[in-house]
Amino acid sequence: HQSSTPTGPAADAGAPRARIGADVAALRASFDAGTTRPVAARLAQLAALRRGLRTEEPRLARALAEDLGKSRTESALTEIGVVAQEITHTMKHLRSWLRPERLSLGPLLAPASGELQRQPLGTTLIIAPWNYPVNLTLAPLVAAIAGGNIAVVKPSEVAPATSAALTHLLRTHLDPAWVRVVEGAVAETTILLEQRFDLIFYTGNGAVGRIVARAAAEHLTPTVLELGGKSPVFVDEGADLAVTARRIIWGKFTNAGQTCIAPDYLMATPRTLERLRPHLRRAVRRLYGSRPERSLDFGRMVSDKHFERVLALIDDEKTILGGTAEADPATRYLPPTIMTGVEGDDAVMGEEIFGPVLPLLAVSGPDEAIARIRAGEKPLTAYVFSPRRDVERRFAAETSSGSLALGLTLAHVGSTGMPFGGVGASGMGAYHGRAGVEVFTHAKPVVRKPLTPDTLKLVYPPYRGLKRRV
Ligand code: NAD
Repeated sequence: HQSSTPTGPAADAGAPRARIGADVAALRASFDAGTTRPVAARLAQLAALRRGLRTEEPRLARALAEDLGKSRTESALTEIGVVAQEITHTMKHLRSWLRPERLSLGPLLAPASGELQRQPLGTTLIIAPWNYPVNLTLAPLVAAIAGGNIAVVKPSEVAPATSAALTHLLRTHLDPAWVRVVEGAVAETTILLEQRFDLIFYTGNGAVGRIVARAAAEHLTPTVLELGGKSPVFVDEGADLAVTARRIIWGKFTNAGQTCIAPDYLMATPRTLERLRPHLRRAVRRLYGSRPERSLDFGRMVSDKHFERVLALIDDEKTILGGTAEADPATRYLPPTIMTGVEGDDAVMGEEIFGPVLPLLAVSGPDEAIARIRAGEKPLTAYVFSPRRDVERRFAAETSSGSLALGLTLAHVGSTGMPFGGVGASGMGAYHGRAGVEVFTHAKPVVRKPLTPDTLKLVYPPYRGLKRRV
């Protein structure tokens, strides 16, 4: 089995299909040998990952700056810190999360006892995207290890410096009998997807999500799909607009808008929009200065392709801040851009923006905002800024999204106490903290019934007598 036309960075390393196949086979053998079963061994790998993260922090931060123009602080906050926190939280609670849960089996089975045991799934594959390449590669890995799984990790080729730094980290600090890295692009991922895994954890866009799910179906492999979508914001009349604007601007322009849960578009009544606009402009100035291209805290588009894609979504006739004239292809800089008077059929509303462009849409009120959300695909998250509890309750009950954040953006996913995942087109399955261990294990009921007295004899045939009684 050799790849006929190998492409991508791993191609010159020889026959990728044979190499990847051998890697996966070795890892399966390692799982079968029980490498990952002892909880102490899992905790040791997690500790090794935490040490590695600390040691390699400068290298990772440099790579993130190179790939995405992330500042050291932003990297510490949204990438490395998040993973470190995930490890610490998981290590602290793992034994209690894995403690078998007693089952209540009901009178028909009595006397009997049962418990739910969390069992590792086996050899898992983690396919990561480029936008938070450290966080979204390693946070799933924490859950995989904690659940007692072997993992093959495929970082995103679109953030090449970070892919290399992650490979170095994992190869230097983790046990190769437990975790292996396969770097590469479509060719390598396609070969990986031909292999049999016990779970595939994919983060990225929905088109590739479908490719992953299709390949997984071949082996009946379950998938966790962490996808994206257009996460809406509704700002209600009477909300504190200064704070609201800051929270939305921060959520939108962090990582230059390349965040799966970034507020995608903003809806409010014309009156609220009118009042909100100066606050939004002021918030951009306050966070990134009057020359955001000079701010160390404002990122860059990851690639020329993404730069061009987002640039094409901007309609300069509608911009009230930023716009294409300020863009710089050489550095892949797109300015923080706000567009007003946007309609549902504008290009910017046709796809997930995934860049620093915030469209403002006028709606008549909560009814229309809810109707708009319901008319589209289920988003990864939805945001509501409202002083009215009944409006918040309506969004919670009448719209469907991976999560709903009331009065804040972004920060909620940093909480290890909250399962993070999508619904419908924004994905399936959730992780972070306990949810991660749950998704990376099988909850297996283990039931025991004493042989005597043989109360099961009530259900043995012949049934003639029984039928008369029921
Ligand atoms: P990407 O281009 O890095 O792709 C993700 C992964 O898929 C990469 O590892 C890539 O190598 C692999 N891949 C690409 N094409 C493939 C193919 N044809 N066959 C097999 N594998 C392939 O990242 P992306 O998709 O551009 O990421 C952005 C998207 O991800 C956005 O839609 C965003 O909302 C979503 N996202 C979701 C989350 C979440 O947690 N739910 C987080 C980040 C990003």
